[in-house]
Amino acid sequence: MISFRSKLLLIFVALLSLVFASITWAVFNAVSSASVTYANNELDVAERVFNKLLLENRRQLIERASLLADDYGFRQAVATNEEETLISVLANHGERIGASMVFITDSAGKLRLGSHDLTVAENLIANNISKAERPFSLLLAVEHQAFQLAMVPVRAPSLIGWVGLGFTMDAELLNNLKSVSKANITLLLDNARQPSLTTLDAAEFVELSHELATTGPGGSGALTQLLSRQGWLSRPVLLEGDIAGDIELLLSVSATQLQDKLNKLQNHIVSIGVVALALVLVAIVTMANSISRPIASLARSANRMALGDYSKPVTATSRDEFGMLAHSLNGLQTAIKDREEKISYQAEYDIETGLANREKSKSELEALLAKKRPFVVALLKLDNLNRLNDLYGLSFIQQFMPDIAQRLLAVVGAQGFVSRTKNNEFLVVFNCSGNNADAAVWPILDSFSESLSHDNIAINFEPRAGILYCPEQADNYEDLIRRASIALSEARKLALPSYLYQEGADEIHLRKLTITAYLQQAIQQGNFELMYQPQLDLQSNSVNGVEALIRWTDPVLGKVFPDEFIPLAEESGAISDITRWVLGQVCKDCAVLANAESTLNVGINLSAKDILSKTMLAELLDKAAHAVPANITLGFEVTETALIADAHKAMDNLKVLQQAGLSLSMDDFGTGFSSLSQLKLMPVDKLKIDKSFVMKLDESPEDQSIVQATIKMAHALGLKVVAEGVENKAAGEMLKAWGCDYMQGYYLARPMPLLDLLPWLQQQAAQQPA
Ligand code: C2E
Ligand code: CA
Ligand code: CA
Repeated sequence: MISFRSKLLLIFVALLSLVFASITWAVFNAVSSASVTYANNELDVAERVFNKLLLENRRQLIERASLLADDYGFRQAVATNEEETLISVLANHGERIGASMVFITDSAGKLRLGSHDLTVAENLIANNISKAERPFSLLLAVEHQAFQLAMVPVRAPSLIGWVGLGFTMDAELLNNLKSVSKANITLLLDNARQPSLTTLDAAEFVELSHELATTGPGGSGALTQLLSRQGWLSRPVLLEGDIAGDIELLLSVSATQLQDKLNKLQNHIVSIGVVALALVLVAIVTMANSISRPIASLARSANRMALGDYSKPVTATSRDEFGMLAHSLNGLQTAIKDREEKISYQAEYDIETGLANREKSKSELEALLAKKRPFVVALLKLDNLNRLNDLYGLSFIQQFMPDIAQRLLAVVGAQGFVSRTKNNEFLVVFNCSGNNADAAVWPILDSFSESLSHDNIAINFEPRAGILYCPEQADNYEDLIRRASIALSEARKLALPSYLYQEGADEIHLRKLTITAYLQQAIQQGNFELMYQPQLDLQSNSVNGVEALIRWTDPVLGKVFPDEFIPLAEESGAISDITRWVLGQVCKDCAVLANAESTLNVGINLSAKDILSKTMLAELLDKAAHAVPANITLGFEVTETALIADAHKAMDNLKVLQQAGLSLSMDDFGTGFSSLSQLKLMPVDKLKIDKSFVMKLDESPEDQSIVQATIKMAHALGLKVVAEGVENKAAGEMLKAWGCDYMQGYYLARPMPLLDLLPWLQQQAAQQPA
């Protein structure tokens, strides 16, 4: 991953390099085009200066020549025309004024005497002489030498001739000219390939001349080209004034000198660029650091926060955006910290009451159990809470929870702790060593005797408690909770304010759970059997009724008796399926029972839930009407307690059955505390006196009184009476004597399978006196 700093550096360095390259390129272009212009300007200046110098030089030469022409002796010599005198005079005068060429002409310009062969210039001289009588000058190329020539008239006093004085254009002159014009001068004569004189570097020039000699035609043009290759910009000088012979002058300025200057400039620019780049780099690194450092510090803070460390505040050193970000992060940190604290609080405490929640109470209890010190647990439930919720609304009732918590805390004090394990469940722990749990728990229950009020509405909460001694009755959390719950449900079942857990209740509870679980399987697989227990009509001494009793043999649990599993099935809701199975099985068995010689009433036991269900009612009516043969009638037995639990609804439903001509028995009569008025209203036609009053009838005068009174009362209400649990002859006889209508019990017959029932019935019929 490329860091932000590196990216910033890369971008800036690239940008800067681009900018510097563009500047350098632009400067270079401008300078190199300027350099050509500059060199040309230099040549222009040099050319002008050069011409001026040359003219000035010629003017001075004329002046000097004029001095000679004015000399008396000289004029004499010219006038006398003595050749020898003339020669010596010329030589003397010429030497005196430093001329390297001397000659004289006649007045028409015809050469009379001279130091050089002037054939080339003869016409030019004559022309000039004929044009003017004043002195004039010329440039001459004679005998491979260049001369500046001054021509002056000689008068005595009339014009007697002209004297010409020539001065060689030598290295000295050229150097003088060079020092003023700042340009190198090369002299070319006679269209020669070899330059005759130059101010250029001698050694270099020899090489040049050599090269010039081997290439095509010579002249200034060829030399210009050759020189340009070595970095010279050259130009031939357009000489002013009269010229005789082939003279060319070439001015050269060094273009390489300019190039050197340019290179220096380039180097300057590059060094400035490098220095600037370095400075900018330092600036960028500093800047990048000033950005990346706070970012890195903020990132570290964020990472710390991610790891759950909120101890250090995020430091904001600057007031810029980073400062703002740090400030925001700080805010975030505080918010997260608060929220986390809230969440962890909620993980352990109940927000509504501020009490420890189930999790927290679990860890507290585990710690307490680990210490192995004795304590008492009371699992408290507000028994009427659902009713109150229905009555006043959930939110109103919830308002009381904090008050309830306060009440509990006030009672428990420092002696233990209180937690809320469910919405309607509080767990109170007392650190007490004695064995009188009641003394500890009672103040709590008692504290609820006073109502609590909100909005002027007073509410009475009815608590119940399941109590447990720890660690004797539970030495681990799971057992503790389960056993406290068992004790609590016992308290509710027995309608007691509190119930102390009884040894073994857990095992019973576990067995109940197991049975409930296995029952489900038994229903799915139809793992039941039906037994039939006959009933004897005591008046006719004939058997005309049987009661269907269910049997369950489980592959794992073995024989489970209905007294055990029926109440569990009622609790778990599985009872409807059992009733359906019994009903179905009875209808199947009817095919066999149809062979019975007499009419037979088959009693089927219904539970409270069955008689409250419209669907079940419809099923019962349907089966009774369509699925049984003519000699069979179905009767239904409902326990007294089931009937009075929801008397109104039960009554309505049972009336439907009664109207359909089905017999209804009130089972287990005597156990359910039903009043006479209730009994009177119930749509039943039989009472079955509970076997607990009958089994020891012969021995118990009390039972005798009860049974006798019950029979009387039932008859008074127009009900038939069945006594069940008749185990001996004495009881049977008593019952018959008291006018009891039917009896059922081991004395007559134990419940038997269908296959045994028919032979038994036949045998019974056979024994009956005709
Ligand atoms: P219950 O309806 O009162 O049935 C009579 C019970 O007394 C039967 O027990 C029967 O075997 C027993 N018994 C009969 N004669 C004597 C006797 O002389 N001495 C003694 N000690 N007991 C006698 P069982 O079959 O164990 O049934 C127990 C209870 O289970 C029944 O009491 C009934 O409430 C329930 N139950 C049985 N089968 C069904 C059923 O198919 N549906 C429903 N809902 N409940 C059933
Ligand atoms: Ca029964
Ligand atoms: Ca019974």
